[in-house]
Amino acid sequence: MKIRTKQSVVIVLTLIALAPALISWGVFGHERINHASVLAIPEPSLQKFFYNHIDFLIQESTVPDVRKYALNDKSENPRHFIDLENFGNMDSLPQTMAEAKKRHDEKFLTQNGILPWHLENMMEKLSTAMKEKRKVEILFLAGDLGHYIADAHMPLHTTSNYDGQETNQRGIHSFWESRLPEQFGNSYIHKLAEIKFIPNVRYEIWNIIFSSHKLIDSLLIADRVLKQSLALNQIYELNDSGKVLKNKFNQPVHQKSYAKKYHDALNGMVEKQMTQAIYETTCFWYTAWINAGKPDLSLLDSPEVSNKNAKDLSIELKLWKQGKMLRDESQKEY
Ligand SMILES: [Zn+2]
Repeated sequence: MKIRTKQSVVIVLTLIALAPALISWGVFGHERINHASVLAIPEPSLQKFFYNHIDFLIQESTVPDVRKYALNDKSENPRHFIDLENFGNMDSLPQTMAEAKKRHDEKFLTQNGILPWHLENMMEKLSTAMKEKRKVEILFLAGDLGHYIADAHMPLHTTSNYDGQETNQRGIHSFWESRLPEQFGNSYIHKLAEIKFIPNVRYEIWNIIFSSHKLIDSLLIADRVLKQSLALNQIYELNDSGKVLKNKFNQPVHQKSYAKKYHDALNGMVEKQMTQAIYETTCFWYTAWINAGKPDLSLLDSPEVSNKNAKDLSIELKLWKQGKMLRDESQKEY
């Protein structure tokens, strides 16, 4: 049993239940990304500390979306995306939050997003918290950072056509990021490149954003091409009157067989993006720690706590060496 407070689990679960469907990457995806990122940390003392709090880091992976929806925090929403097309020439985008605020008013930024600049600010805060060994803050910031890095790997978080509304593909957003990982995620193998120190965080962030943005066309075209050749009842579940069935969040419910076809057509895109999000989250945490002067954070917990968790960690690491994780029982059966 890792450190967790029962109360916080109850609060988070209640908020998630209250939140509408669009928890980006879904609960399954975000939780897996933060969980796996802890297993991928190359520095043992840092990994020990993060693993002592892995239950918290997993829970925290979805909290930024809860703030957005259930708590209706207006300042939260733009942190999760950037509608790149609306910022003009992509070669001269604002480099910092200050620059973005100088060039655009608050209304514009609220509507078009601030994800890359928010990520850079979070990194600085995390590094400072590590340097000053502020335990609670480190954990909150690391958990949240994992969420926003994951969002940056979801191609539709980088475009104004975020739910296919401009191409008559409404519902594609949650279908790609929630339904597909929920249906296929347990079979994913996460083989990561070697975790590295990031010398230029800003450059890395933009690299992630632009790489995601490049995937938008293939993501949307694969869906359109498939749908052209199929009848409505081969794509969606229909209700008794032949209309597309909607779930409680008003999202169209796709057929299990259609999800399989689309997932195949994407040729591993969801798995690759998820793996890349795990890789980058670990690199960012590791970089923040190096920039903080490599403090031994495992000293923030008692040796008894770390010793108690050591066995669980070694079991998980054995699996992780093959790119696998403990089966997530929250994965839905379709
Ligand atoms: Zn989000």
